[in-house]
Amino acid sequence: MAKGGTQHVAVVGAGVFGAWTAHHLQQAGHKITLIDAWGPAHSRASSGGESRLTRATYGKDEIYTRMAMNSLPQWKALSAITGLPIFIPAGILFFFPTEEPYVRDTIAAHRKFGLPTDVLTQAEMVHRFPTIDFDGIKIGLYEPGFGALMARRAVLALVDQLVRAGGTYLNGLVEPPAVDGNSRIYELRLSSGERVRADRFVFAAGPWLPKLFLDVVGRKILATRQEVFFFAPPAGDGRFLPGAMPCWADFNGGDMFYGFPDLENRGVKFAHDAHGTEVNPDTLDRQPTEAALAEVVAFRDRRFPALKGAPLTEARVCQYENSSNGDFLIDLHPGWQNVLLVGGGSGHGFKHGPEVGRYAAGRLFGTIEAEPRFSLASKSEAHHREVH
Ligand SMILES: Cc1cc2nc3c(=O)[nH]c(=O)nc-3n(C[C@H](O)[C@H](O)[C@H](O)COP(=O)(O)OP(=O)(O)OC[C@H]3O[C@@H](n4cnc5c(N)ncnc54)[C@H](O)[C@@H]3O)c2cc1C
Repeated sequence: MAKGGTQHVAVVGAGVFGAWTAHHLQQAGHKITLIDAWGPAHSRASSGGESRLTRATYGKDEIYTRMAMNSLPQWKALSAITGLPIFIPAGILFFFPTEEPYVRDTIAAHRKFGLPTDVLTQAEMVHRFPTIDFDGIKIGLYEPGFGALMARRAVLALVDQLVRAGGTYLNGLVEPPAVDGNSRIYELRLSSGERVRADRFVFAAGPWLPKLFLDVVGRKILATRQEVFFFAPPAGDGRFLPGAMPCWADFNGGDMFYGFPDLENRGVKFAHDAHGTEVNPDTLDRQPTEAALAEVVAFRDRRFPALKGAPLTEARVCQYENSSNGDFLIDLHPGWQNVLLVGGGSGHGFKHGPEVGRYAAGRLFGTIEAEPRFSLASKSEAHHREVH
């Protein structure tokens, strides 16, 4: 039974943040209605991709090391009850041209939390990961316990679980709540005319959060265009399969390229983590560009020479929903005491879904201490990325 009795909570947005928040609220005994305009982890949602990295490498941002670490068992538990895996323990290798502060801070945080991490020299990496050309690279951090999450599958599984446990999933477009001078809201209005009454409300609308709360969120969250590409490995070549090849990131001073082994035969995935142009998630042209492909192919050919000439098998255009510095936004609405805003995943949020959900559920009911870095007050309209 929930502390203070069972309440009805409406959660808007069935991406990774909304789905895990709904999960934790349900676990706490509340009645849940989860609503999404296009469905859980749909193609245009930020959570709608094939795969997402999970890692505890975060430099000075120990808060995210801890969240990734505490999220991992929850991912494993979910993975254990679904037919196909959600967590793929492929390991993850970050590599760097110098032993920069990010490396030292990560090592210190991992020691503090007792996370197993191999600190590798260039020669050791060449030996262990022969498909990667480590020219110009001095040091690597390998986390054997982390790897890849099957993103879309994970969100679908969570929503399925929610409904099986008695929660409601509703397909509908929620309209921005009307400002009426009250300190609470009592219901949501859907574009269909339907109304959903509840005691408390969570808005986890990803890149659409600013559209729902123009005044309060506005330009504090900006969506940027991001392109990802998959390439076919050479026929009969097992070197790019998980187990042989890790997930990886070429840190490059924060201007990261990253990628995955050939997960479930989808192809070897590459992407550039730099923020693309500002976009509107409703009108974003989702055709990949020649320029982004050329950039990724040039990188691929340099670092993964055995993939030179590998044919493109798929591409996706998605969006990050960036907060001003990369910290999440998980805070009560300044005007409505029963409304929680959740978003700002900023290109690194997926892995933290379980802990975001746990924290959000606690914040909504006032049972957890507020983390200043997740506050609305800490967000600005001037954007400068600090979390990598
Ligand atoms: C290309 C790419 C690569 C990434 N790589 C990684 C990675 O490797 N590791 C990592 O940890 N993270 C990664 N991320 C970030 C991570 O995927 C996102 O931070 C996370 O998925 C955001 O989830 P969300 O639930 O906030 O948003 P979303 O998944 O976008 O969900 C929001 C939902 O709200 C719904 N919604 C919006 N408005 C309304 C409304 N008015 N009514 C009803 N429903 C509404 C939408 O339909 C949507 O389904 C990546 C992101 C992208 C795009």
